[in-house]
Amino acid sequence: MLQSNLPEDSYLHKGRRAQLVQTLRDKGIRDERVLAAINAVPRHFFLDTAFQHIAYENRAFQILAQQTISHPFTVAYQTELLEIKKFDKVLEIGTGSAYQSCVLAELGAQVFTIERQRALYDHVGKFSYIRKYPSIKRFYGDGYAGLPSYAPFDKVIVTAGAPYVPDALTQQLKPGGILVIPVGDSSGQRMLRITKEIDHKLKADDLGAFDFVPMLEGKNK
Ligand code: SAH
Repeated sequence: MLQSNLPEDSYLHKGRRAQLVQTLRDKGIRDERVLAAINAVPRHFFLDTAFQHIAYENRAFQILAQQTISHPFTVAYQTELLEIKKFDKVLEIGTGSAYQSCVLAELGAQVFTIERQRALYDHVGKFSYIRKYPSIKRFYGDGYAGLPSYAPFDKVIVTAGAPYVPDALTQQLKPGGILVIPVGDSSGQRMLRITKEIDHKLKADDLGAFDFVPMLEGKNK
């Protein structure tokens, strides 16, 4: 799991990361800033030492508490859909390993990330790499409620499969803001990009099929 004593970021890791970036480009990721952020964040730091040698394959991995770190393609795709600008206030539901949070922070976002699993929340607190990004603020709580005291947000990203679009998340989005959320059930979700127009109307685009762990209600001790 997340490592407090970080391994080396060797030439081998850097080379594999560069190959992963090329794979993501080949699969359709166009935003070079997103690709540069993936290239900058050592994904192998976020995985158990047993997975180090395969950390740069385009696949999901088990982390703690039956949760997963998403496919690099999914991370890159959701990030691209958010059209992150420097200093954007971004709410993330599902901190997990904090890999996605670090990619967002690398792009200059101010990240507010919520995790409902206490074990994961505590683990990320011991993960030294995250201190590189003081712009990431972590919260232990239920993402269905969002973070009303820090709202509104320029962007919202949900990294777990939601059965529906929670009202709190659209309410906490600024006019002109973007919410990216996979909506569906355990058999799969559709990636929705919801934009809030200036008159507060919501417009949704369906961007295809994905497969996430479920967004669950309430906190888990
Ligand atoms: N963004 C993560 C992916 C984590 S997987 C990463 O980069 O590693 C999804 C995460 O969402 C899990 O850690 C799960 O515990 C969390 N989650 C599920 N439902 C949630 C909720 N209601 N509020 C906050 N986190 C939630």
